[in-house]
Parts: sequence; structure tokens; C-alpha cells
Amino acid sequence: MSNNMEIFEKWESNVRAYCRSMPTVFVSASNAKLVDEMGTSYIDFFAGAGVLNFGHNNNLLKEEIINFLKSDGIAHSLDLYTKHKREFIKKFVNTILEPRKMNYKIQFTGPTGTNAVEAAIKLAKKVTSRNLVVSFSHGFHGMTLGSLGCTGNKHYRQFPGSESLSTLKLPYCYETNIKKIDLEHHIKTLEDLKEMFNDPASGVLPPAAFLIETIQAEGGVRVAGTKWLQSVRELAREINALFIIDDIQVGCGRTGNYFSFENLDLDPDIITLAKGIGGYGTPLAVTLNKPEYDKYWQPGEHTGTFRGQGISFVAGKKALDYFDNDEFTNKVREKGDYMYSYLSDLIKDYKNIDLRGKGMIYGIDTGDGNISKDIIKECFNNGLVISGCGSAGEVIKFIPPLTIPKDELKKGLNIFEKSFRKIMRAK
Ligand code: PLP
Repeated sequence: MSNNMEIFEKWESNVRAYCRSMPTVFVSASNAKLVDEMGTSYIDFFAGAGVLNFGHNNNLLKEEIINFLKSDGIAHSLDLYTKHKREFIKKFVNTILEPRKMNYKIQFTGPTGTNAVEAAIKLAKKVTSRNLVVSFSHGFHGMTLGSLGCTGNKHYRQFPGSESLSTLKLPYCYETNIKKIDLEHHIKTLEDLKEMFNDPASGVLPPAAFLIETIQAEGGVRVAGTKWLQSVRELAREINALFIIDDIQVGCGRTGNYFSFENLDLDPDIITLAKGIGGYGTPLAVTLNKPEYDKYWQPGEHTGTFRGQGISFVAGKKALDYFDNDEFTNKVREKGDYMYSYLSDLIKDYKNIDLRGKGMIYGIDTGDGNISKDIIKECFNNGLVISGCGSAGEVIKFIPPLTIPKDELKKGLNIFEKSFRKIMRAK
């Protein structure tokens, strides 16, 4: 058996990244397990950066895809009406929107997250006839120019002209176990801003939108304080700006509810979804637009060749069966609680290590990108695929498939513990 990486090293662009911390050639995968060319198995705590909420090659979804292919279903349809798109919409409305009394138009954008973010930004600008989009420190919204301008980390903006894309960033108020967050100070910042936005002589024009993640995933698994989120929402309302929630990484069941913002009383004007919504790992992205805003679009005004993704419609529709009742989301919460208690027991023995998260996304913040990198490498050598996030990779992000069996989750956590303790001992 070979495990030859030469072709990639010789021919694939220098920009490749995740593969550098997982240096092997994978050949197959099933639920939360990956297998490489050498026959080595890995437990997957990475899940395609939050795409594979329902696991690799989920059998229920696979069967739908096989039937779809056998029946010569329409794999690519731009925005033509197709039977499979109709079924997807119907299921999404019946399972997700209507039970939550949510009234939104579904806009299929180009199939990656950044396409949905671009569409949301553009629509907000049209609706308000304003240009500024306010986003937040450490936020991550994608790599195309509009979404990149709203993304915090300067690592992604190392090219001339990037400064001019950058939007106004506000400090993000998140919950942490290792330092006290001054909520009052954050709220006061919002009040000051409101004053500036309302003052025609302040030199700051009011924004078209606030673009926000309720949990910053790439930004370091930062869970926003609820009160603060509500204050941002309120500010948006008061100054007639739209409130956009980017639920691309933490939506589709990740937090133990379908949307990350359920029960937070936020009432977003636009919601972006991608990653998990296609179910199987094939691409699909949408914005959910309140109808009073969606009507600002002219037909064909925002397009994209890959908006009609047949495979994602059938697999995505089937994946929504997981949300027919509470059984699945209860299990996500149960497994999430288990992850939290396991990891909080582990970090008790160490100083200044933060643990943050909700549902089935957690981050261990070691405060040092090099330490996290060594832990991630050790995990990989011991059969666990896991990745870093945060400003410089200092946060190790736990984002396994939501369908991971409990015994595998436990096994993965055991591998993490062993690897973590070994590296921390050496430091
Ligand atoms: N928004 C959030 C919150 C994300 O986490 C990501 C990707 O990680 C994106 C947008 C961009 O999605 P994509 O990489 O599919 O363009």
C-alpha cells in the first residue's frame, strides 16, 4: 500500500492548509471514521469544518442519492423549477420554518457559504440604500471580497487593497471561564455607537447591516453573551439597519437546535446557511430573507451558475428528517453535555486553559498556537483528526459529526486527553 503525497506537494498550490496538519491520503470514510491508504483509521472531530453534521456517507442520505442518480434526476438546474428542489423547499418549510413560525423567503445562492454572505450583504445594502456593514472582531464570513471585508483575521487579508475592503468591526462580547467579561462596557459601546450613527455631524453614517455569528467558530469558538446579542439586535432595529445572522457553521443542528439562535429572541432579518444544509457534504447554500426585504430583488439581479444542486436537494431533504421531532436534537445535547463535562474535567488540572462552546461545538483555548499545533499533531499520530481555529490556531475545535456514536466520541476524547496531557507535560 502506498501513501504517496508527492503529487500534491509537487502540483497542488502552496495555499493548501488542513492537509499539512493531517499528512496522509484518505480513501474512505463512514460516519465519524476516516481511513487512509495505509489502512489506518482516524476518528473525525473535524467533520469538514462543520459540513458533515450527519457524518460521512450517511446511509440514509446515500440511498436517496443513489435513487436520484438511477432515476436520472436533474443534477444541475440553475434556478429552474425541479421536482427535487420543490421537495426540498416543502420539507424545509414544513420541518424548520413553519413549526418555528418563521416567515422567510428561501434564496438559493451559489453553493458555498461565502456566496450566501455576499447575497445577504448586497440585499441589505439595497434595502437600506446604505453601504456600511458592521461586523465583529474575530468574525469569519468567507473569502470573497465582500465577506472577506467582514472577516476579522488579517491572515486572510495579506494583499494590496485589502484595507479598503475592511468594514467597521466592533468588539465581540463572548463568554469565557478565564476572564471576566464586562457586559456593561460592551453595552455602553453600543450606546455610544447609536449616538454616533444618529448624529449627522459624527462623521459616521449609519450602516446597512450588522453581520454576526452567535458563536464564532473559526474565530475561536466564542459564544456570544445573550444579553449583548439582544442589544446588538436592538441597536440594528433602532437605526433601521438589518440584522444578519451567519449560521453557516453553527446552524443545521450543531448547537442542539436547528438554528443556533433559537430561544434567544433575536428575530434576524436575514439568515445565511450553507455547510450542513446539503446533508451529505455536497454544496448548497441559502439565505433566508424576510419577505418585506426579499421583494427588493429584481428577477435575475443576483445569480450564480451553481444554484440548482440536485444531489444536495435530495440529501439535504432527507437530512431534515432528523428534525422531524426532538429525538435527534436531544441526543446532540446529551452528547454535547458529555463532551463538556469530559473536557472540563480534563482542563481542571491546568491553569489558564479556557473551554468554550455549546451543543456539539467546543473549543479548548491553550492561549498558544504552537502548543495547540503540537497537540493536534499528537492527536493525529494517535488516530484523531482535529483542527485549530482562533487568531493563530490557539484554539482546538471539537466539531464531530452530530451522528457520532457515543463510544466513538468517548474514544476520540480519550485520544485527545492522552495527547493533550503528553504535550502539556513537555511544556
Ligand atoms: N460563514 C461562516 C460562519 C463560516 O464558518 C464559513 C466557513 O467556515 C463561511 C461563512 C464561509 O463558507 P465557505 O467556506 O463555504 O465559503
